[in-house]
Amino acid sequence: MTLLKIVKWPAKVLETPASKVTVFDENLKIFTTDMHETMAASGGVGLAANQVNDLRRIITICIPWFEPKVNDEDPASDTEQEGSEKKEWWHDKRFTFVNPTIVKTEGRCRGQEGCLSFPGTYEMIERFLTCDVKAQDEMGSPFEIHATGLFAICLQHEIDHINGVVFLKHMSRLKAGLIKRKLARQKEFDEGDLEL
Ligand SMILES: [Zn+2]
Repeated sequence: MTLLKIVKWPAKVLETPASKVTVFDENLKIFTTDMHETMAASGGVGLAANQVNDLRRIITICIPWFEPKVNDEDPASDTEQEGSEKKEWWHDKRFTFVNPTIVKTEGRCRGQEGCLSFPGTYEMIERFLTCDVKAQDEMGSPFEIHATGLFAICLQHEIDHINGVVFLKHMSRLKAGLIKRKLARQKEFDEGDLEL
């Protein structure tokens, strides 16, 4: 198992559409396992191959389930906390989607998203509430799933990645501009650091 290096924006690979996978071999299985390991080690719930500098249409997802914390002294707190939703079938499962496409969507929702390629950046993003996705597993067998909640949001975020779309595209121009400037400053700082 190998931990892969996660590419940070503004790397070009993040805005390049990935290509359809046609070869389902041992190498693909090793690569998807490495993607899962890299995602888990980075604390991410989803990862697209572009983010590890590979332009194949592959995404991995694993959303851990956390028991909602109940605070007895403050009964209002448990309803306000994130993660107070119920455990769904997709929690704690390792999903690998090869050549995924969204075939149906319903509703709209807004939620806070982060991205491993934009460390420290979290923004409210509008997405479809549910989505049906067709894909192949790492052996090439086709399957289709109906995704809801965080799973649906994560799928849309990762499928955007393999289409060469980063979450800045879903923000207002003003907000995206602010983030771009912040990251450019950070990059200068990081590069300056390396020269020391
Ligand atoms: Zn991302």
